[in-house]
Amino acid sequence: MPSDSAVKDPLKTYRRKRDFSRTSEPSGDTSAAEVGGGGSRRFVVQRHRARRLHYDFRLEVDGVLVSWAVPKGPTLDPDVRRAAFHVEDHPLEYFDFEGVIPAGEYGGGDVIVWDAGSWEPHQAGKSADPGRAIAAGELHLDMWGEKLSGRFVLVRTSTPASGKDEWLLLHKHDEYAVKGWNAEDHPQSVLSGRTNEEVKTDPDRMWRSDLPAARASIALKAPVVETVGAEELAELDTLAAGGPGGCTAAS
Ligand code: MN
Repeated sequence: MPSDSAVKDPLKTYRRKRDFSRTSEPSGDTSAAEVGGGGSRRFVVQRHRARRLHYDFRLEVDGVLVSWAVPKGPTLDPDVRRAAFHVEDHPLEYFDFEGVIPAGEYGGGDVIVWDAGSWEPHQAGKSADPGRAIAAGELHLDMWGEKLSGRFVLVRTSTPASGKDEWLLLHKHDEYAVKGWNAEDHPQSVLSGRTNEEVKTDPDRMWRSDLPAARASIALKAPVVETVGAEELAELDTLAAGGPGGCTAAS
């Protein structure tokens, strides 16, 4: 069960790990309606090369991204169970982040949007409130992604006194199941088609985890804007006036 304070402020842990003292702007305040639109809940799986490679499996629930770190990645193989560690909720702004996190910062490394799509809880005969299902330690869900689809189950297996809850992530035997399917055989981003290495070499964005979520995703490449400078305008004037340098081949 999450503590009372965690229910009131699910991003408390996320914020506590980051330093917002440099700014007084609100952090993580964007509502699900603003970002998500539509009726379906969104999910994202990010392949994250930090100190150790893992996949961050994130489900949009009650305005945050409830997250598990899955070291070997999700699989469509119904005979395989993947260890998953319940980690802190992330702000919705992180949903489509792909780029680099500076070394030395929390989660330093590179991140791609490995898969994304929509999902719905599947709780036959029970409450379909996924927040409650997660708190109770068992969530059945249907996923519609580019790589992941079909019915998955997340089930909590242990709650160590210190550290992160241990869960298992598995795929049910259904028409979307694929024996032998391994996440590492599908390394490309669904956002850019690039691999982690390609993103690391030439990143478009950087995540500043010390900034409020709304401003944490920093563009690293300035858009190319064609401008006509004052000097060029002066030259054009000169040419129009037939002045010095106007029509001579040598100029
Ligand atoms: Mn991660």
